[in-house]
Amino acid sequence: MDKKINYKSVRLKAGLELHQQLNTKHKLFCKCPTEMKAKTNHSAIIRKQHVVRSELGEADTAAQFEFLRDRTFHYQIFPEEVCLVCVDEEPPHELNREALDIALQVALLLNCETIPTELHVMRKIVIDGSTPMGFQRTVVVGMNGHIGFKGKRIPITQITLEEDAGAIVEEKGGNVTFRLNRIGVPLVEIDTGILEGFGPAELQEIAYIIGIMVRSTGKTKQGIGAIRQDMNVSIRNGQRVEVKGIQELSLLSKVVEFEVQRQMKEHAKPETRGANQDGTTRFLRPLSGSNRMYPETDIPPFVISKQHLEELKKSLPEPLIHKLERFKSKFKLSNSLAEEIMESEYLSLFEKIMEKVKADPTIVANTFTSIIKDLVRREKVEINRIYEHRFFELFEHLADKKIIKESIPEIIKYLASYPQDGVSDAVKELNLRPLTASEVKDIANSILSEQPNIQFEKLYGIVMSKVRGKIDSQEVMHIVKSLIKK
Ligand SMILES: [Zn+2]
Repeated sequence: MDKKINYKSVRLKAGLELHQQLNTKHKLFCKCPTEMKAKTNHSAIIRKQHVVRSELGEADTAAQFEFLRDRTFHYQIFPEEVCLVCVDEEPPHELNREALDIALQVALLLNCETIPTELHVMRKIVIDGSTPMGFQRTVVVGMNGHIGFKGKRIPITQITLEEDAGAIVEEKGGNVTFRLNRIGVPLVEIDTGILEGFGPAELQEIAYIIGIMVRSTGKTKQGIGAIRQDMNVSIRNGQRVEVKGIQELSLLSKVVEFEVQRQMKEHAKPETRGANQDGTTRFLRPLSGSNRMYPETDIPPFVISKQHLEELKKSLPEPLIHKLERFKSKFKLSNSLAEEIMESEYLSLFEKIMEKVKADPTIVANTFTSIIKDLVRREKVEINRIYEHRFFELFEHLADKKIIKESIPEIIKYLASYPQDGVSDAVKELNLRPLTASEVKDIANSILSEQPNIQFEKLYGIVMSKVRGKIDSQEVMHIVKSLIKK
C-alpha cells in the first residue's frame, strides 16, 4: 500500500456515520425480544419494489436504479422474534422508553447542546430491500454535540434512535433473502460533521472514541454486526462517495486508504459503495437524493420533560474513555491491553478484582483477554462453570506468591472441571507449588554431578522440563548460569 499519500494535500474530507445496536429487552416499536436466538424460520414473505414519484413529481435516481434491477426479496420469519408490527401488518406500538433513555444518555455523553423537547418519529425510505415496508422509523434525539480529539473539537451533528433493518442472508440471481428477526432492534446512529485535516488512522481513532462513548451506557450489543459504520469520503475536486457497511472498526482506516487511492485514479462519481472484507469497495448504486424522510403518522409526538432529562444527567455513566486513561495511568496497562479489557465481557470483574487484590494488573488483564479466550477456543474449556469468587482466589494466590503466573492456564482448566474445588485444591492436585531457588539448584546440581561436561543450553533444557510451571523461567536461567560458571 502506498504510504506516501499526503492526505492534507489531497484534501481528504470524511464524515462518519456509526450505528450501534442497543441491548434492550424489547424491539423499538413492539414487544418482540431483541435477542436473535432463533435458528430456523417457519415461513417467508416475498415482495417486489416499485418506484413512486414524490409530490414534487420526481423519482429518486437511486430508487429507480434498484427498481430496474428487478430483484425479488424474500423475508424469513421467526415466529418468536417477528410479529405483525415487524412486518408492517399492524400499527407500531409506542416508542420503547428503555431504548429512548439509552439514546438520550448517548446524546448527553456526546455533549449535545440541543435535545428536542418534543420527539417526532419519521419514516426514512429504504431502497435496498432490507425492510419489507420500504422504510425504517427514526427519531432525532440530539444535535450539535462534540467530542475532543488531540486538542481539536470533533463535531457531532446528529444522534438518532432508529429501528434496525433485516439482515441479508444471501443473494442469488435476482433473489435476495433477509432474516427479519433483526428488524426493529433499536440502534443509535451518530453522525459527525465533515472531518478535515485527519488521516485514515486518525479517522479510525475518532470512530473508536465515538463507539466507546456509546458503549459507556453499558446497554449495547456486542459481536459481529452489532456495530456498523458508514462513511462519506471525498478528495480535492472530487465528488462525495458514500461507503456503506464497514463491519469492523479495524477496517475503517484501510477503507479510507483504498478509497482515496481509487478516487485519485478514477474520477469519483456521487455514488454509494459497499465495503468489502479486505477494505476495498464496490459500486452499489447512485447516491440517493436527500429528501428521504416523511412523518410517521401512526405515532404521536412525544414530549421529554425537563425533569426526566435532569434525572438522566445525574445518573450518567462514567465515559469509558476516562476509564481507558485511568487503566493506562494507574494500572500501567499498554494501550492495546487497556483497549482489550475495556471491550471484554470481563471488564467489571477485572475492576472488582483490582479493587480488592494486589496482583499485577497486566497479568490479571491478560488472563481475561488472552488466556481465557485461548482456553475456550483451543481446548473448549467451559469457563462459565467457574464461580466468580474463584478468580479472586486465583489472583490472591498469585499476589501472595503461592503460584506463578505460568500456572494460571492449568488452574483455570482445573477449576472449570471441578467447580466445587478451590484454587488451593488445584495447586495441590496439579502439584503446582512454586519451587524455591535452592530446590531448583539441587535439581541442577544432581544433573551436573552425573554429566559434569554438559553445555548450558542442554542443562537449562533438562532443568526446565522438570520445573516448568513451578518457577519463573528467568530465575531458572540465572541459577543454571551461575552453576555453569563455577
Ligand atoms: Zn415485533
